[in-house]
Amino acid sequence: MNSLSTSVTPGAARRVSDICVVGNGAIAKTTALGLAQAGHTVTLLVPPGAPAPAPATVGEQPWDVRVYALNHTAHRLLSSLKVWGALDQDRVAPVESMVVNGDGAKPGDLAFDAFGAHVGALAWIVEDRNLNQALDAALRFAPHIEIVQGRASALAATLDAATITLDDGSSIVSDLVVGADGGQSWVRGQCDIGLDYRPYHQQAVVANFSCERPHHGAAFQWFTGQEGIVALLPLPGNRVSLVWSAPDALAATLMDETLSEMAVRLAVWSEARLGALRPLLPETVKGLPLALIRPHAMVAPRVALVGDAAHVVHPLAGHGMNLGFADVAQLLETLAAREAHRGLGDERLLARYARARYEDVLLMQATTDGLARLFCADLEPLRVARNFGLNLLNKFPMLKRRLVSHAMGK
Ligand SMILES: Cc1cc2nc3c(=O)[nH]c(=O)nc-3n(C[C@H](O)[C@H](O)[C@H](O)COP(=O)(O)OP(=O)(O)OC[C@H]3O[C@@H](n4cnc5c(N)ncnc54)[C@H](O)[C@@H]3O)c2cc1C
Repeated sequence: MNSLSTSVTPGAARRVSDICVVGNGAIAKTTALGLAQAGHTVTLLVPPGAPAPAPATVGEQPWDVRVYALNHTAHRLLSSLKVWGALDQDRVAPVESMVVNGDGAKPGDLAFDAFGAHVGALAWIVEDRNLNQALDAALRFAPHIEIVQGRASALAATLDAATITLDDGSSIVSDLVVGADGGQSWVRGQCDIGLDYRPYHQQAVVANFSCERPHHGAAFQWFTGQEGIVALLPLPGNRVSLVWSAPDALAATLMDETLSEMAVRLAVWSEARLGALRPLLPETVKGLPLALIRPHAMVAPRVALVGDAAHVVHPLAGHGMNLGFADVAQLLETLAAREAHRGLGDERLLARYARARYEDVLLMQATTDGLARLFCADLEPLRVARNFGLNLLNKFPMLKRRLVSHAMGK
C-alpha cells in the first residue's frame, strides 16, 4: 500500500464515514446501498463529471445494447435491497431455456430449461440502464450515503484508518475502502496486489435486433470456431440482444458494416430458430475488448475488492456481473457476522471474505477461460472432442442439473 505522501491542503474538507466505496457501476452502487441499509455510514466516491443520475423517463426508450443475464444470486441480493422491484419489469426478459450449439460437420448441442431445473426462470435479461436507474433511485432515498465526485490521488492504510486523498486536497477517512472501480481498478493499483492479464484478442460486439419468430424466452449460443462465440439473448417481445465475441480482425469488420449486413451473417446460425433478424432503431453497436484479469488477492490492509476490480472473466457464460453480486452479498454477510471486537477493516475479517469467495471465483475463471480456449481453437480433433462433450453432457440429466444449478447461483 502506498504511504500517504500527498500533502493535504490546509482547510480542505475531511469526510469521515465507516466505509468508502470507490466506483460508479452497478456493483459499486449495490455495495454502497447494502452497506448503508446495514446501518453503516458510506461515502460513495464517483469520478468527477459523472453524470447526475437520470430519473427514469416516461415513454419508450431505445433498447440498451449493454444487457446482463442476471442469475438467482443477483436476483436475491437486489430483491433484498428492494432494487429488483424498482426495475422497469416490462423491460426485463426471463430466460426460460438455453440452447448451446457446437460447430463443424457434426455439431453437438446442449439444452437446459427452467422446467427441468424446477425454477420459473434460469436467469433474467436486464438492460444496464434499467439496472442503474433502479439503483440510482434507491441511492437517492438511502440513509447514511454521501455521494462525492472527485479524482482520488492517494490511498493510505494505517492501524487506525484508511485515508483517500483527492486531487483537490480533500480527504475521505474510513475504516474500510471497497474497490468497486472496474477492471482497471485504481484502488487495486494502490495496493500491493499483483495480477495476471491475458487479452483474448477478441472483442464483444453488441447490438439489438428484432426477430421474425418468437424466441419463447430462449437464449441461444453458437460456438462457431473461427468466427468466435455468438449469443442471442431474449429481450421482451420479439427482440434479441447480440453478444458476439469475435476475433479482433472480424470484430473490426463487423463494426465497419451496417447492422443489416451483420444480420445476414447471423442468419447462418439463427435463421432456423428465429427467422429473419432486423436491426432495432436507432442502430447502435459497441465493441468491447475482452481480457482475463486475475488479481492475486481480493483484499489488502483495510481494502476489499468487489466486481471486476477483483476479477474480469470472458463473457461467454454471462457471469462477470453475477460474480460481482456474489462478492457484494458475501462482503455484507461477512461484515454483519463479525465479532463485536472486530472493526470493519479488521484483517481477519477481510481474510474471511477473501476465503469465502476464493473457490467460486476460481471456478468461474477456470471454466470461462477453459471454454474460451477450447471453443475458439480451430483444430479438427478439438472440434470433434468438444462436440462429443456437449452431446455427452446433454445425455446426463443429473450432471446437467448440477451445472445449471451452479450457473443459476442456487
Ligand atoms: C459484452 C459483455 C457482456 C456481458 N454480459 C454479462 C452477463 O450477461 N451477465 C453478467 O453477469 N455479466 C456480464 N458481463 C460482465 C459485466 O459487464 C461486468 O462484470 C460488470 O459490468 C462489472 O461491473 P463493475 O461495477 O464491477 O465494473 P464496471 O461496470 O466496469 O464499473 C466500474 C465503475 O467504476 C468507475 N471508476 C473507475 N475508476 C474510478 C475511480 N478512480 N474513481 C471512482 N470511480 C471509478 C467507472 O466509471 C465505472 O462506473 C458482460 C461483459 C461484457 C464485456
